[in-house]
Amino acid sequence: MTVFNAERLLFTPATPAPDAIPVILAFPNEYTVGITSLGYQVVWATLALRSEVQVSRLFTDIHEPLRSQPELVGFSFSWELDYSNILSQLEQLEIPLRANQRSQSDPLVFGGGPVLTANPEPFADFFDLILLGDGEDLLGAFIEAYQQVRYGDRKTQLRHLAQVPGIYVPSLYQVIYHSGTEEIQEICPLDSKIPAQVHKQTYRSNTLLASTVVTDKAAWENIYMVEVVRSCPEMCRFCLASYLTLPFRTASLSDSLIPAIDRGLTVTQRIGLLGASVTQHPEFTALLDHLKQPKYDGIRLSIASVRTNTVTVKLAETLAQRDTRSITIAVESGSDRLREIVNKKLQTEEIIQAAINAKAGGLQAMKLYGMVGIPGEESEDITATLELMQQLKQAAPGLRLTLGCSTFVPKAHTPFQWFGVNPEAEKRLKILEKQLRPQGIEFRPESYKWSVVQALISRGDRRLSQVLELVRHYGDSLGSYRRAFKELKGKLPPLDYYVHQTWNLEQVLPWSHLIGPLPETTLKKHLAEATNQFVGSPTEEEYSHKI
Ligand code: SF4
Repeated sequence: MTVFNAERLLFTPATPAPDAIPVILAFPNEYTVGITSLGYQVVWATLALRSEVQVSRLFTDIHEPLRSQPELVGFSFSWELDYSNILSQLEQLEIPLRANQRSQSDPLVFGGGPVLTANPEPFADFFDLILLGDGEDLLGAFIEAYQQVRYGDRKTQLRHLAQVPGIYVPSLYQVIYHSGTEEIQEICPLDSKIPAQVHKQTYRSNTLLASTVVTDKAAWENIYMVEVVRSCPEMCRFCLASYLTLPFRTASLSDSLIPAIDRGLTVTQRIGLLGASVTQHPEFTALLDHLKQPKYDGIRLSIASVRTNTVTVKLAETLAQRDTRSITIAVESGSDRLREIVNKKLQTEEIIQAAINAKAGGLQAMKLYGMVGIPGEESEDITATLELMQQLKQAAPGLRLTLGCSTFVPKAHTPFQWFGVNPEAEKRLKILEKQLRPQGIEFRPESYKWSVVQALISRGDRRLSQVLELVRHYGDSLGSYRRAFKELKGKLPPLDYYVHQTWNLEQVLPWSHLIGPLPETTLKKHLAEATNQFVGSPTEEEYSHKI
């Protein structure tokens, strides 16, 4: 029995029409990872529900029977380093890696998902077209536009598809650099018939996503996922999950959430509530009350993330009764000043109260997420984080505490996109580790080196594709990236430029032509609000005359 036989579908796929468009929908990782991605599940089901499409799935370890000549090959791209698997899957399908090497007989390669929506430029040369933003309406618009030019030549197809709002055809835009190793001078469409800018698409509805398939082969075994909210209204200045996906949308309790949960319970007992900030749903308390009813006894409930000041005793009790032992909150830092800089509206007392409530409600553990290298961070702020962990230990004795800690990485379309990674961060992670472990507080740092790679990809331009092609043969380590940069010296700026340098507010960003939810002027205003709170405002000097 293949893994596909173990799937319990929550939709009925359409029977493909005789002339249906053959599509391969790839996920650049193993089946267990791909099938746990709610985005991938929904894109697959959306295509499988259309009789004018015949879709087959491809994972790195397994695939459904594949048509020998697909017309469209799509990738759902949600983790940066999976790019090497995308290139391997293209090779497996005998499709040239670069869009400009493909001919009429090759399929159109399209991509979507969070990595590409944030900054597609490092990968732009590998895709014929990229879907920017929410897929709900965009995917249908893409298939319909493709049908209109299905039998046309490749150039006509791409030019036609580029007219669809949210479809980005990288080859129709020219990037001009000041010089090979300097920043971008200009990004312009090849001619006046191509839109100068591509706007990321926003789906507006109070019906959000829910799983279309449940399987015990998923990484989260048998989970049925329900999207409770999309985006987050908090707008922490570094946060892609908020800024890139605005506005904040919530699923209707009676029309969307409860029916979705009840549908899921027909096939599984495990429910995952997803969203950047689930507890910010305006009817979250009503949802908890609903789930406390006896008919939901026996279900296993997981919550993706909760806002710290919404951790009530009631929430903790409901989770504890529904087989959850631990709760995760993001605090970013123990320093009140830093939290103000990043616009995290959270006081130390509220964090302490959250721990007290978690324990009182019967939870056994609390995981906190923090970050080092936040712009404006001083060494005193690290001390404040250490003090916070000690205070929590005293306030909620017996509650198992874990601090997960990453390094600040700049993300496109956020107010902190102009900042580089602070090299001090590596040292600061070590300080936290050294101090916390002896106190019995588990410390789980995210690799600093991995943060450097993330920043590189996050702020990369098209020249980076040469690096990516080399690195996949050298292995996934920072050393491999350094080696590739050395080999390509003179062909692109140094690694330091992408990763560590603070960028000039006036420079053309690699994603300047791709329009997110907020105008750049708003991002700059939010940046100024943050830098005005820096000690001695060093960057105020640097920035204020430019803002
Ligand atoms: S609360 Fe969390 S999800 Fe919301 S903006 Fe802040 S970091 Fe992002």
